[in-house]
Amino acid sequence: MKVRNPRTGQYDYELLVDTPKMVENKVGEIRVAQKAWQKCTIEERVSVLQKWLSSFTQFQGEIAELLAIDTARKRIAKVETGGIIGLMQAWSYRAPQLYNPPAERPSASATTVQIGQQWVPYGVVGVISPWNFPLLLALIDTIPALLAGCGVLLKPSEVTPRFMDGLEKSIAAVPELAAVLKLVRGGAEAGKAVVNNVDAICFTGSVPTGKKIGAACAERFIPAFLELGGKDPAIVLEDADLEVATDAILRSCVGATGQACQSLERIYVHENIHDLFVEIITQKAKAVTLTTNPEKGQMGPLIFEKQAEKIQEQIDDAVTKGATILCGGKVENIDGGLWCAPTVLTNVNHDMEVMVDETFGPLIPIMSFSTEEQALEWANDSIFGLSASVFSKDRDKAIEIASQIEAGAISINDGSLTNKVYDAEKNSFKESGINGSRMGDAGFLRFFRKKALLIQTAHPETMANFEEKNT
Ligand code: NAD
Repeated sequence: MKVRNPRTGQYDYELLVDTPKMVENKVGEIRVAQKAWQKCTIEERVSVLQKWLSSFTQFQGEIAELLAIDTARKRIAKVETGGIIGLMQAWSYRAPQLYNPPAERPSASATTVQIGQQWVPYGVVGVISPWNFPLLLALIDTIPALLAGCGVLLKPSEVTPRFMDGLEKSIAAVPELAAVLKLVRGGAEAGKAVVNNVDAICFTGSVPTGKKIGAACAERFIPAFLELGGKDPAIVLEDADLEVATDAILRSCVGATGQACQSLERIYVHENIHDLFVEIITQKAKAVTLTTNPEKGQMGPLIFEKQAEKIQEQIDDAVTKGATILCGGKVENIDGGLWCAPTVLTNVNHDMEVMVDETFGPLIPIMSFSTEEQALEWANDSIFGLSASVFSKDRDKAIEIASQIEAGAISINDGSLTNKVYDAEKNSFKESGINGSRMGDAGFLRFFRKKALLIQTAHPETMANFEEKNT
């Protein structure tokens, strides 16, 4: 597979794709090694993870450089590698505290029976990840799954695959880990082969692919943990601090060029502050600098060509239906890279794609509302339910509004806090995902099946008890 460089537009990297047979073989190898891995104590697995932490640290610079080519972002590449070290440390500390199968106890319903409880990890977990945060989303589920005693087959996105070369070196340096963690290279076909061979799937990606994977997992009767797209709304109440709201909303909409699942993508502002809000955020949006010189600037190019087309289509659709562009508004080719400056749109409504379909780009479409009921109705008028924001100086009022939004995490007086807060459990609503949370303690506990050993301590019941004539 030829891979496009998002800064130059050149196809300057070749991805050697794993065939379905190679994927099957890798799963077979992991299965053999996983048996011993599962028998290790949690402390032994933590000590292997610590070895990986030190080899990862050794290759951190190389991995960050490759990621920076994959994504055309230097600073965020460093944040991603640093984030992985943080995750390794956090799970090394937390997983042994959480691994706590209950001690043997008598049953309350059958008092002569003792209950022994075992936690059995899924054998091989398949992790399939997207291109927007290629390293972080490849490892966010992988690390706790490994600590739970699962083997992991990891298939990152074919759009941003260079970082795998560095990551693989860090894994190879720890043979015990390399036996239970293997990488797969390729696109949909390789992903399908992963789904066809593993015992559970952790998938992060789009809703359409998530539905296909969910159906394939249902067919195989294996669990699918699906973390999918979003169309996050922000509600800005009349009493909101406008500096706070405009800073947070701008950062959340255009940070990482809007290519984050938890980006704010539609803004509802109270009519009494709407015009001032629009004026301030437009000024701030115009001040955002592009990293056309890779050594400076705040916002990079769009990573994925097809996404750039979709963003332009949404802008065109909105303008055709009457939207006003106050800044930005065009995907431009600069030296081969595809760039879109922060784009503020007003006079938008829910008949426009930009207010209902995921954008995954730096657009800020703003509507004004007159009542809280109206704002909530619009916020909930979506197939998505990933996350959302509420802005108000009144904490209780903000919580009251947040409680009525159909989404898994609500940031109050900020945007996209789920990219910083990893220890708050949350479930996606509607089509944004399904099954156990990757955040919080569930991020580790969901990898175990609970097995009951039921030990009879008295003589077993006999057939004499079923005699009808004694009834
Ligand atoms: P995508 O669905 O196109 O691809 C994701 C992964 O699935 C890739 O590795 C791809 O090769 C693989 N794949 C594609 N078809 C497959 C199939 N039939 N079977 C198995 N694997 C298959 O998503 P994308 O464009 O890479 O990522 C962007 C999407 O990811 C957005 O919708 C975004 O919102 C979402 N996302 C969600 C979260 C979250 O935590 N909820 C985080 C980041 C991104």
